[in-house]
Amino acid sequence: MPDERHDPSYGPRLVRGFAIVIVACCMAGTIFTAIQGWPPAWNRTTQIFIAVYAIAGFVAMVLFLRYLYHPRCPQCRRRMSRTEPDTNTRQELRFRCSHCDVVWTTGVFRGSD
Ligand SMILES: [Zn+2]
Repeated sequence: MPDERHDPSYGPRLVRGFAIVIVACCMAGTIFTAIQGWPPAWNRTTQIFIAVYAIAGFVAMVLFLRYLYHPRCPQCRRRMSRTEPDTNTRQELRFRCSHCDVVWTTGVFRGSD
């Protein structure tokens, strides 16, 4: 039976990561508009911006999903996997580190009840 501990930093890190992505998107849009004006001309700069924006968005989404499903263990820094929530945990997100044999609870709940 694995030990169960609480990781209070999971939720705030998730929110902070999401906020950084939103702020970065707004800043990129503002800088692009300052350079190109509005409506932007369809030229090389616009095409490069859209390509970089799409690649950065894809990378941000991959990193976000990776953190959401496989965060690092607070103790040993290895990637963990999600454990299946049971009814007793009210659908709380929980991750198991097989190296430390610890189930980390997050205080973050799936959906609402
Ligand atoms: Zn660990």
